[in-house]
Amino acid sequence: MANIRVPMVDLKAQYAQIRDEIHDALDRVMADTAFVLGKAVEEFEQAFAAHHQAKHCVATSSGTSALHVALLAMGIGPGDEVIVPVNTFIATAEAVSYCGAKPVFVDMHDEDFCIDPAKIPAAITPKTKAIIPVHLYGQPAEMDEVLAIAAEHGLMVLEDCAQAHDAEYKGRKVGTFGRAGAFSFYPGKNLGAYGEGGAIVTNDDDIAAFARKARHHGSSKRYHHDFVGYNYRMHGFQGAVLGVKLKYLREWTDQRRRAAAKYREVLADLPLVLPKEKDHVRHVYHLFVVRVKDRQRIGEALWEHGIDYGIHYPIPLHLTGAYEDLGYSEGGFPVAEAAADEILSLPMYPELSKEAIGSVASWLREALVRPTGAAEG
Ligand SMILES: *Cc1c(COP(=O)(O)O)cnc(C)c1O
Repeated sequence: MANIRVPMVDLKAQYAQIRDEIHDALDRVMADTAFVLGKAVEEFEQAFAAHHQAKHCVATSSGTSALHVALLAMGIGPGDEVIVPVNTFIATAEAVSYCGAKPVFVDMHDEDFCIDPAKIPAAITPKTKAIIPVHLYGQPAEMDEVLAIAAEHGLMVLEDCAQAHDAEYKGRKVGTFGRAGAFSFYPGKNLGAYGEGGAIVTNDDDIAAFARKARHHGSSKRYHHDFVGYNYRMHGFQGAVLGVKLKYLREWTDQRRRAAAKYREVLADLPLVLPKEKDHVRHVYHLFVVRVKDRQRIGEALWEHGIDYGIHYPIPLHLTGAYEDLGYSEGGFPVAEAAADEILSLPMYPELSKEAIGSVASWLREALVRPTGAAEG
């Protein structure tokens, strides 16, 4: 078998494609010396809002700060509870903690790895103020059900879209269903900056106005501070890079979807569980996550042959040290706990070639069909 090294993510191929445009865009930022916010960031905000057919986009320093500012804008504070899926990147819950509020975890649905709407009502108390569905791995959460529960109980909804740029639920882009949507532009995300970045998308004028001030020391006019805010501004360079890359997002997403289809084809007969793609969504495959028994051995076999993999995420949030104090215990979220032991993220990026996918499949096949300890023949 040909030994191709396949990384989890390859940002170099993409850079090669857009190098000249990026250099021009960065050069303009330097010529304008607009290093913090400024024209490139404003132009990106307008383009990203338009992309979502949303009224506002407020760019921030990261996805985590976008989540934090959005929650503050929604009035979340000490004594409040916010419902968060138990299997997500920790930042979703951290943003709640930054507000002095308490994250309350809910188990995932076995089919899409997103929050299980049927399990939300049991987590609601008189202190609950909001729900944060996460469109995990690039597949939208069941928004109709989440919104119906939120409406019934008078709760706000903030979408965590950090892994779901350009994803659609019933034909509409994620980030526009709740009070606001928070995006991350961490370099490895589907729309990645060349450093940290994030944004809030919203149709709510008050949320946008608050977020604009909060990211900028509570200020809308120089040295006039209406409240104690943060330094959560986006850099000019990141706005410039994102402005260039947004134009390619659709194409790159289609490439990811084609890579996912190819994986499905070549992995179809293997003893593993492929990710389910719901038919009413546009899944954008931030990650292609399969489930395997004996993950440790399979992962090591891939690694040995130059195939990278990831585990997103090895420890559900209720079992991490950071949230020990919340008093949850093992067994509390059986669906997420079972998944955590079996999930394996295969290499995924727009430029992933058929050959690379073939190589991943070959080594995976060899590891899965060869019984433990059998000699190589
Ligand atoms: C990446 C990510 C974040 C945080 O974004 P940063 O830009 O890294 O701060 C939040 N939520 C989820 C689901 C993420 O994947």
